[in-house]
Amino acid sequence: MVTFLAGGTGTPKLLRGSETIFPPEETPVVCNTGDDIEMSGVLVCPDIDTVLFSEGGLLDHETWWGIDEDTTVTHDEIQRLADAAGVPAGPRYLPEEAQTSGRDIARFRRFSGVAEFMQLGDRDRAIHVTRTGLLDERRGLTTVTATLADALGVDRPVLPMSDGPVATIVHTDEGAMHFQEFWVHRRADPDVERVEFRGVEHAEPTDAVLDALDSPVVIGPSNPVTSLGPMLAMDAFRSALESTPVVAVSPFVGDRVFSGPAGELMAATGHDPSTAGVADAYPFADVFVLDEDDGTALDRPIVRTDTRLGDPEDGLRVCRAVREAFEAIGVEVP
Ligand code: GDP
Repeated sequence: MVTFLAGGTGTPKLLRGSETIFPPEETPVVCNTGDDIEMSGVLVCPDIDTVLFSEGGLLDHETWWGIDEDTTVTHDEIQRLADAAGVPAGPRYLPEEAQTSGRDIARFRRFSGVAEFMQLGDRDRAIHVTRTGLLDERRGLTTVTATLADALGVDRPVLPMSDGPVATIVHTDEGAMHFQEFWVHRRADPDVERVEFRGVEHAEPTDAVLDALDSPVVIGPSNPVTSLGPMLAMDAFRSALESTPVVAVSPFVGDRVFSGPAGELMAATGHDPSTAGVADAYPFADVFVLDEDDGTALDRPIVRTDTRLGDPEDGLRVCRAVREAFEAIGVEVP
C-alpha cells in the first residue's frame, strides 16, 4: 500500500491512470483542506472535491474543478441579483466575530453568499449542501467525506488532512486575504509577503491520516506552499513523513511551473521557485521524479520521465516512474 498527498490539480492528474499500478481501494489520498471556505452557507472543499469528482468519473477535465457539464442556474441568479442590487463583485467576508462563532470547521474563512465570488455549479452545490448538512449533524469531515465518496461510487479512501479548521491566509502588499480571494478573485496579482496557516496550532492529522502515513508516501506534483504547507505545518504530519519512505514528483521543470501560483508563493516564502526549491522544502523526501527536460542536480536519487499529466496514459507513465523511484531506494511496492 502507498499513500498519495494531494492538492487540487497535480496529484488528481497523477492518480488518473494510476489504477493498474496502485489499486484505488488500497491507495488512500490525503487532501489539503487549507483552501476550503464556507460560502453561501455551505462548506466548499476544493481539493477533496477534485479528487472525489475525478475518482467518481464526474470531473470537468478542462478546468480540473467542478462537475462536467454542470449547470450554474443558482450561481448565475445569485450574481444577477447582486448586480441588480448594485453590489460590487468580489469576496464578502463575514464580520470578524462571525469568523469564529459559526461552524468550527469554517473558522477564519467564512464568506457570505452575496454575489458569490466563486462559481458553484448546481450539482456541485448539492455536494456542498449534503456535506454541510452532515457536518451540522455533528459528523466529522473524515466521516462526511467517506459518505460522499460512497455516494459517488469512489472506492479510494479520500482523507481530509485534519478534521479541524486550518485556513490558508496570504499576507500581501494589499493586506491579508484567504487563499481563494488571492487566487480565484485576484489571480495571484498582489505581492505576497508571507503565508499563514491560521488555526494550525490546534489542528491534528486524523488517526486515519496517521495510519495512511505509516505506508510509503507519494507527493504528487503539488504546490509546496499552499497544498503541502498546511499538512507540513502539523508537527505530527511532518514527523510521520520523516519516518516513512517518500517519493516526490516535481511540479516544476527546472524553474518553469506547469500551472498556478507555486512560483510566486515559493519565492515569497524563502524558497527558490524551482525543482531545487521543492527539494529544499521537502527535506524528508527520499527520491524525486523529475521531468526528462529538468536537468536539476539534487542531493537525492532522481528518476526522470515526461512528467506532463492530463490523460490516463500520462498518469500511468509517471506512476511507473514513481514505482521505479521506490525501487531506487529499496522499497518494493506491489
Ligand atoms: P492546487 O490545489 O490546484 O493549487 O494545486 P496542486 O497543489 O495540486 O498543484 C499545483 C501544481 O501542480 C502546480 O505547481 C503545477 O506546476 C503542478 N502541475 C499541474 N499540472 C502538472 C503536470 O501536468 N505535470 C506536473 N509535473 N505538474 C503539474
